[in-house]
Amino acid sequence: MAKYYGDIPCIKIGDKIHITVNATSCLCGKKYTYGKPTSRNDLSSSNIIWRELEAVSCDVCKKKYRQ
Ligand SMILES: [Zn+2]
Repeated sequence: MAKYYGDIPCIKIGDKIHITVNATSCLCGKKYTYGKPTSRNDLSSSNIIWRELEAVSCDVCKKKYRQ
């Protein structure tokens, strides 16, 4: 059984899952617009998703979260 870290507010940008710090940016410093497409090439909307740390695919976000 995987170690449980608890749920973390995450945001999917492109094909990576980042950890959010507020409504407009991630732990790694990447900005996003809540509920709106992040770019012309990525028309999927950004909505907060609750995931465990293991589900976060942005290495910078993960590293900073553990510090
Ligand atoms: Zn990130």
